[in-house]
Parts: sequence; C-alpha cells; structure tokens
Amino acid sequence: MNIIQNLVPESKYELKCPYEMDAKFIVVHNTANDATARNEIAYMVRNSSSTSYHYAIDDKEIVQGLPENRNGWHAGDGRYGEGNRNGIGIEICWSESGGDRFIAAEKLTAKFIASKLNEKGWGIDKVKKHQDFQKKYCPHRTLDMGWQRFLDMIHAELNNIKPTNSETKNEEVFEMKLNTIKKGSTGGQVAAMQAMLIGFGYDLGTYGADGDFGAVTENALKKYQSEHNLEADGVCGPSTWTSLFSDSEPEEEWVPAVGDIVNFKGGTQYSSASATTGSNAVAGQAKITKVVNGKHPYHLVRTGKTGPYGWVDAGTFTKV
Ligand SMILES: [Zn+2]
Repeated sequence: MNIIQNLVPESKYELKCPYEMDAKFIVVHNTANDATARNEIAYMVRNSSSTSYHYAIDDKEIVQGLPENRNGWHAGDGRYGEGNRNGIGIEICWSESGGDRFIAAEKLTAKFIASKLNEKGWGIDKVKKHQDFQKKYCPHRTLDMGWQRFLDMIHAELNNIKPTNSETKNEEVFEMKLNTIKKGSTGGQVAAMQAMLIGFGYDLGTYGADGDFGAVTENALKKYQSEHNLEADGVCGPSTWTSLFSDSEPEEEWVPAVGDIVNFKGGTQYSSASATTGSNAVAGQAKITKVVNGKHPYHLVRTGKTGPYGWVDAGTFTKV
C-alpha cells in the first residue's frame, strides 16, 4: 500500500495528539466535504483546531496525518473517550457529493483497512464507526449505503490478502505496477522513488520524500541516472525503476594496481609520468606494470595486438 505521510509536527502534539496510544481498533468517518485526501490532511495539520485523525483516503491516495502511536480527536467522546484514546481515525473523502469518486474512495479504504487488520492481527470486529462513540450520524454516506455492505467489502479484500511472510511481501513489491513518473507527477510512487534516492545518498534538500516531483527531485534523479549508466532524462520509467529496486550499496571503488589487466579506451600515452606532450595510442587490452604519483600515473604494456605502451592518465581504462 502506498501511504503518503504529512504528519503533524511535534510542536502541535499538545493540540492534536497529546497522548501516546496503543491502538485497539479503527474508527471510520466520512469527511462530509469534497476535499481530496491530501487537502483534508494538509488542512488538519495546518489549522489551530484540535480535531485530528490518522488517515484521509480519497479515490486515489491514502494520506496519513497522525502517527498511529498517538491519539486523535475524532470520535467526539471526550478526552478520556474510548474512541478518541484507542481508535485509529480514518476519514473517507468525497462524501458530500458521493458518486464514483466516493465509491472508489470507499473501496480504497476497504483495501487499506483489510491490510491494517491483517498487519495487526485484528478481526473485522475491530472496525468501528464514529456513531458507535457519539450520537452523530457519521460516516453518513457509508451508513446511507449500508454499513454491513462496507464490512462485506473489507471481508472481500481480506480474502485477497495472501498469508504474509517476508518473502511474499517482497514479491508483492516487485509485482506492484510502477508508472512512468516525471516532473509534475505526484503521489505515492513519487514518494517511494524519492525515499530510495535519499536512501542512496541523493540530496532532496528540505523537501524530502514529499510525493511531489519538482525540479530538485528531477536533478537528483538525473544525477542518479548518469551515475548508473542510465539515460539522464530525469524521467523514472521501467529501466530506472529496475535499477532503483535492484540497487544496493554502491560497488566498492576499484583502485588500479600493478598486475591488473585493463581495457585501454584509446587516447594519449606519454613517455614518462611527468611528460607534457604525448602520442596517440589505439584502444586495446593492457597490463599495469607501474603505478607512480604523477600526472600520468599508470604505466601500461599492451597484452594484445593493439593498445598502449607507455604512461597514461587515470580514467583512460577500465577493469577487465
Ligand atoms: Zn466522524
């Protein structure tokens, strides 16, 4: 599941989520407006009201605003209320006008809740509605359409989840359909790519993995691509995704040493390590016979029919 995080800063914990929480169930809400999940969470994080919830889910994205180990103020049952102090609050978006967007948002929510139940080892009885804690008709549209129907949707999603162990989890990652993303793209896959770039040491500045593919991300991706023999076009398509997923630690740097067999790329060779003018040598295989501290530090002797026989610069050959 792709989850975009836009978490309440710690400076607002006192207002939004003052208590630590060991979550015991899920509380489902409808937003009763037509904001996207991103906007819903951004507004919640920014405003000075105490109202808070853990996730907002629209037809496309799951956005998290509170860490699951902090309480939220969403169930309307007060400071010591069961719902507020033990529930993971989830807002389903697009509930004001309903329609296809809302149906898709409910479906994505059912999928997310199923994976959460699976992760926590919880049964379907851990799925509660706001109405269970306060006399409020929420989640209003989900209730209109049928609560049992929504629980059945979660059931169906649970049946789709294979028993998990670390191996099948990894496979699922690679089976995930990866889109080609570029400058202007947003969403979970952008955030995933950004997180990988950061993990490999590429600087995204203060933006971090924000799910927004801007100029800083594009530059970092181009740098990654050029350092990984990929076309440095700043577009993350199949070959770049494959490289990102298969990449681990950068290879240990090779330090050329006497005795190494190399492929000379062709270029200038010199009669001594400090010579200022040289002569042209064609490409070919060679052996390093001396290494000194000079302008042209490597002495190569050809081992094939063509190649250098003299002193050359660093970077003019590769390891065989
Ligand atoms: Zn509610």
